[in-house]
Amino acid sequence: MAKMTHFHPAEPVSVLVAEPLDRLLDYKAPEGGVRLGAYVAVPLGPRRVLGVVWGQGQGGFDPARMKAIGQVLDVPPMRAEMMEFLTRAADYTVTPLSMMLRLATRAPGLLDPPAMQRVLALTDTRPERMTEARERVIAVLQEHGGLRFRPVELAQLAGVGQGVIKGLIDCGTLVIQAAPRDAPFARLDPDLPGKDLSADQARAATALRASAQAGGYGTTLLKGVTGSGKTEVYLEAVAETLKQGRQALVMLPEIALTSDFIERVEVRFGTRPAQWHYGITMTERRRTWHAVARGQAQLVVGARSALFLPFQNLGLVVVDEEHDSSYKQEEGVIYHGRDLAVLRASIGGAQVVLATATPSLESWANAKADKYARLDLPARFGTAELPQMAAIDMRGETMQANTWISPTLRREMRKSLQKGEQSLLFLNRRGYAPLTICRACGEQVGCDHCDARMVEHRFQQRLICHQCGAWKPIPTTCPSCEVDGKMAILGPGVERLAEEVAEVFPDARVAILSSDLSDSARGLKALIDDIVKGEADIVIGTQLVAKGHNFPHLTLVGVIDADLGLQGGDLRAAEKSFQLIRQVAGRAGRAEKPGRVFLQTHQPDHPVIRAILLGDEDGFLRTEAESRAAAGAPPYGRMVGIIVQGPKEDVVFRVAGDLARHHHALTDTGASLFGPAAAPIARIRGNYRVRLLIKAPKGLAIQPALRHWLAPLKPPANTRVIIDIDPQSFY
Ligand code: ADP
Ligand code: ZN
Repeated sequence: MAKMTHFHPAEPVSVLVAEPLDRLLDYKAPEGGVRLGAYVAVPLGPRRVLGVVWGQGQGGFDPARMKAIGQVLDVPPMRAEMMEFLTRAADYTVTPLSMMLRLATRAPGLLDPPAMQRVLALTDTRPERMTEARERVIAVLQEHGGLRFRPVELAQLAGVGQGVIKGLIDCGTLVIQAAPRDAPFARLDPDLPGKDLSADQARAATALRASAQAGGYGTTLLKGVTGSGKTEVYLEAVAETLKQGRQALVMLPEIALTSDFIERVEVRFGTRPAQWHYGITMTERRRTWHAVARGQAQLVVGARSALFLPFQNLGLVVVDEEHDSSYKQEEGVIYHGRDLAVLRASIGGAQVVLATATPSLESWANAKADKYARLDLPARFGTAELPQMAAIDMRGETMQANTWISPTLRREMRKSLQKGEQSLLFLNRRGYAPLTICRACGEQVGCDHCDARMVEHRFQQRLICHQCGAWKPIPTTCPSCEVDGKMAILGPGVERLAEEVAEVFPDARVAILSSDLSDSARGLKALIDDIVKGEADIVIGTQLVAKGHNFPHLTLVGVIDADLGLQGGDLRAAEKSFQLIRQVAGRAGRAEKPGRVFLQTHQPDHPVIRAILLGDEDGFLRTEAESRAAAGAPPYGRMVGIIVQGPKEDVVFRVAGDLARHHHALTDTGASLFGPAAAPIARIRGNYRVRLLIKAPKGLAIQPALRHWLAPLKPPANTRVIIDIDPQSFY
């Protein structure tokens, strides 16, 4: 039977509500009927909640008591492919469908009546007396192809007075209409010329344009060294997509911090794109959501959550820096933005471009298996060359106590300073000192709510827990043995490193780039813009600096502790460390002057350090792939993390123990279950955490088995069982 797409008044329909409920609810279609996918307001208990018409009523409910849909919202109905995307994303992540709908409706005021305003549109009537000013007004409206403007806006754009506008209304050339208050986005012009491309770039751009023209689904891994022009190349794919009249989405990690990219779009297409990330205002958020839903926003630049926007005709998703771990959402609905991008595109017949200098092993393996196409940009654009990489063997350096910059690195920094060039010191540790310890009893000051040590933040004069944000004053007396004056700090954070820099280079202008040192995204962005302009001699940064920024004056990168990421048993420790340091190194020498990179290490012969120095991505990934394949680890096997968490330790362990005892539903399918064991961070925000790990062969459909296994589980209130499909972190 064909799926019903329209329901008559009073006909029962099922509605998916954006509330924490794990089932559809039946309502009567309102007067005038309702379409499949319509956004509606429905009564739920005493409340009025948002929902989407999901299909025919399911019945089994007294029709006399069935309530009616309160209101059909004035937005285009959700498309069938979006409904399928949400359904399959919910299935894959083992999440209630209603939670997926919540992600898809995170625009403020969706339930409010539409805010209307007066706008002007062009009719076919022309004035009897034409003047130059009147011609300009008509030309503006014609140029903007059917867009409507508020009277003031139109007068401004045409450079005429209000009187001219009024005259045109009087003679019927302009007509007043009601339109939603949110201003439409200006049209991007895909026919504006791009930059002249190098031969490599042109080859890649042609391939991407051809895929966009062909239509249909496909994913391409665009692997190019930092500064090779990946952005220029994928903007060509965006241009082709816009030409086809389809919408495009470019996802970037930390988009809230980069004005650079938005400006490049403006240069390429003549105007700014729509944006979607935590840095935009509520008004912007509502405007973007509605413009995307009406198909009016052609290009959205956003964070991972932009994938859930109601595109009408999505033709392209670019995932820039596809290896970046911030694409994985680890709280609330747990999903991977990159993977869901591919899912969404495959349902809607769109193209995906995964751009990176350091591919994730997952994407690399998919390209190798011919599931993804692959395009390479092996050289930096123009005269820029890849930086020279060298290790500084810390075993051979004489270090004074409580200093972290080796004499060799100091010498190199001094050279840069003398030449007026910028240096970057990379240390992936926020705060002043990672550890506060009592020299009398050995006590390490920890968080009262988490199984984590407190980190000293000297600028804020407190110890802060990086897990939960709790803080306490810096103690002078040991909280454990109560001996006074024996508290000491160990190790450096970026703040302490800044102190050393100030001592060694008292005249240098120093900027610290760390997420906790600015109170807003705006403040950080301003700091980044200053660095771009060259208004700092020495930049000290955490992993924030690795995220694709373009610092044209930067020629020297010093990695303070290249060994830091190699410790820890994390399955991806080597891969992440490789990506992070290569990305940081890639900040050096992006303009005319060549770059130099120094890694301070105690293990210069460690295979990962050697691979970083050689810059042989494929070689590194091949070795990494072999060892993962041998271990049946992702991407050659599947993993699912289960975290049981709650305020009572014994309850948490009991629930996890019950799960382990009833493993048959899982293990009968061929999966194996490990644990339970206390999580590496055994308590966060007062909640105890216990982990179980499931390993399964790659082809196994693990989700149905998981549901079957978890169905009988009735955890007590406050105790949650969190399912993390394809876990990226194991804390
Ligand atoms: P990637 O994204 O690979 O790091 P970008 O696209 O940011 O590289 O390019 C690096 C720099 O080189 C940018 O400043 C960019 O504008 C410039 N560039 C790249 N390709 C070209 C080109 N064909 N013509 C002019 N400038 C280019
Ligand atoms: Zn804490």
